[in-house]
Amino acid sequence: MSDDVKVGIVGAAGRMGQMLVRQVTETPGCKVAGATEGSGSPHLGKDAGAVAGLGDLGVAIVEDPAAMIANVDVVIDFTVPAATAEHARLAAQAEAALIAGTTGLNAEQEESITRAARHVPVVRASNFSVGITLLLALTEKAASILGPDYDIEILEMHHRHKVDAPSGTAISLGQAAAAGRGVDLARVRQAVRDGHTGPRPRGQIGFATLRGGDVAGDHTVIFAGDGERIELGHKASSRQVFAAGAVRAALWTRGKAAGLYNMNHVLGFAD
Ligand code: NAD
Repeated sequence: MSDDVKVGIVGAAGRMGQMLVRQVTETPGCKVAGATEGSGSPHLGKDAGAVAGLGDLGVAIVEDPAAMIANVDVVIDFTVPAATAEHARLAAQAEAALIAGTTGLNAEQEESITRAARHVPVVRASNFSVGITLLLALTEKAASILGPDYDIEILEMHHRHKVDAPSGTAISLGQAAAAGRGVDLARVRQAVRDGHTGPRPRGQIGFATLRGGDVAGDHTVIFAGDGERIELGHKASSRQVFAAGAVRAALWTRGKAAGLYNMNHVLGFAD
């Protein structure tokens, strides 16, 4: 009898899903115990290991998330917003921990994750890399030191398949900058500029989005003052960093109380 943490991967045939199947398989102390895909996926019924390029693991990709989640200790979810909201509900019901990486959720879908966290440990992050976790802290600090004489602009680039914009990570960086200034991002956010925009309002936090190729994720936070400019940046060259962080978070949930956690908690940066 192994006491490996049993991990269920929803969306196991996706770009992140396949990466997660490989990462869990290669990480001591955990194993892939279940896998799902959305209805209509051509990968239903196939072995999750084979789809991820590993060879058979003896774990078929199934369609019913409830049955799969009932059988695992922790669910890792990098899928689509509506599915993530439903998976959060099912994880809470089955008392499985949840690692939620999907971005682009609306307020109601995000609330479904918050509700689940009343019953089980949930780690929620728009970016599971160690580097971005550090960049969030540096951005908040820089914004608090520099103040509103420095205009904040957040630039991001991702691969051509990404469906939400600005990226969840860019929004988290905006929230960190806003927190550093003691303001609410929703009140100062400028997500798009086009046409005759007039001059830049003081205190605004702007976003610019680039899409193309196979870029795993580039983010730059620019603090533009009079006579100088500070740029804090991060470039992910492989999705593996997100998968490694998510699996680290999955192992960390073992024995934890119900609650909404982020990567600061997992990495020991938070109290
Ligand atoms: P993808 O399109 O390659 O994969 C998503 C998978 O989910 C697909 O295989 C799809 O069939 C599957 N799916 C859809 N509905 C489903 C359902 N009801 N049940 C099970 N599976 C379902 O996308 P991706 O590049 O892997 O990204 C997925 C999400 O993760 C996006 O929101 C992306 O922004 C986010 N992401 C987050 C991080 C992070 O660190 N938090 C990093 C990378 C990507």
